Amino acid sequence: MRVAMIGAGYVGLVSGACFSDFGHRVTCVDTHPGKIEALRLGRIPIFEPGLSELVAANVAADRLSFTTDLAGALEEAEAVFIAVGTPSRRGDGHADLSYVYQAARDIARAMRHYMVVVTKSTVPVGTGDEVERIIRELRPDADFAVVSNPEFLREGAAITDFKRPDRIVVGTENERARQVMTELYRPLFLNQSPLLFTSRRTAELTKYAANAFLATKITFINEIADLCEHVGGNVQDVARGIGLDNRIGSKFLHAGPGYGGSCFPKDTLALIKTAQDYGAPVRIVETVVAVNDQRKRAMARKVTEALGGSVRGKTIGVLGLTFKPNTDDMRDAPSVAIITALQDGGAIIKAHDPEGIEQAKLVLDNVAYVDTPYQAVEGADALVIITEWDAFRALDLKRIHGMMAQPVVVDLRNIYRPEEMLSLGFRYSSVGRGLADT
Ligand code: NAD
Repeated sequence: MRVAMIGAGYVGLVSGACFSDFGHRVTCVDTHPGKIEALRLGRIPIFEPGLSELVAANVAADRLSFTTDLAGALEEAEAVFIAVGTPSRRGDGHADLSYVYQAARDIARAMRHYMVVVTKSTVPVGTGDEVERIIRELRPDADFAVVSNPEFLREGAAITDFKRPDRIVVGTENERARQVMTELYRPLFLNQSPLLFTSRRTAELTKYAANAFLATKITFINEIADLCEHVGGNVQDVARGIGLDNRIGSKFLHAGPGYGGSCFPKDTLALIKTAQDYGAPVRIVETVVAVNDQRKRAMARKVTEALGGSVRGKTIGVLGLTFKPNTDDMRDAPSVAIITALQDGGAIIKAHDPEGIEQAKLVLDNVAYVDTPYQAVEGADALVIITEWDAFRALDLKRIHGMMAQPVVVDLRNIYRPEEMLSLGFRYSSVGRGLADT
């Protein structure tokens, strides 16, 4: 099939590359000329494992191309995906749908034959209705269907997630659109991935419900971690103890500095706003957002306490800046709030991240960015682990101990073993591992 993908960001680029790998012919369209130029030259604007090879293979096979010309991309397309950003709107936290609606207008003007318009961006309930209205208003003559097909991939594992999804959700009650979507995803359901057809509004809400639930799970275990610290329990054992229960499951039960990233913060907020608008508030999610917001500064306080109550004039080596490992994405990363709070307290920050430094420079000022973990800890009064990149699990801890001004380690991801750290002579604190910490 021929597919146009509007937006060549994380979701558009990964989805476009994967669809082309299934054998479809995909044109990715973006309004950012620099991005398209880079992609044409074989440069991938984001860090995502395996993406560069996948893009190169499908470009070489003539199944994947890049353009800024939407009309050209739509000429033969049977389906056009909208995969543009839906960030939080400044001021009120509602999803900013201006990019989605602009894409809808662009599609309307360029449409020349029957087309399935698929919203892959995460959008509030009712957005599909509005996309349909916009296109219908501009092109009363056009033959089209608007479908919701939310994306559930995780950055850092995006290609595997797209190619082996737990499920594909398609929101449409239009039979012709359903056939097109079935054809597009055929390689996946031949592979046993469930293809779940729902109404369009249900599909839109399913995405928000999924993200809100996962954010709740993280926040729940973070509060249990705090309790563990008070009562002398070990949150990792609690998480294992509950996670082995199939009704609960072990994923998203890792205590840490609070969730961040390109999706959970904005999606939980947008769900709260939608629910309030409809007079059906989601109080659990409201609490989750409030608890998670407070957690970042609480983590900065943890570092301050580890340094005896003040960070003024102290050098802190930070390892890990991105919101999770295996991405260079800094959007709403917990590191931003934690580092800013430490800087507010007068700390001097040195930081290392394997892939995120260029993006971090855009959002964090007055940080000395260094190329290796060892440079970050040299002469530091404390080492703080914020993102659990694998490379940090196997550091030479003896060497680090010898390089620091004070052997203080605050491990916000629980990647080290407390007994080992204490036996090496560190003053070590972590998250939710009560007795061993002290
Ligand atoms: P992104 O910011 O990385 O990419 C969006 C791209 O769309 C940009 O390159 C931008 O230039 C382009 N764009 C904007 N308006 C355009 C237009 N009118 N025509 C053509 N291109 C246009 O965003 P993303 O992270 O890929 O997220 C896209 C959507 O997918 C969001 O709604 C997000 O919530 C959702 N989502 C993201 C993830 C994730 O892990 N990043 C996962 C699931 C769902």
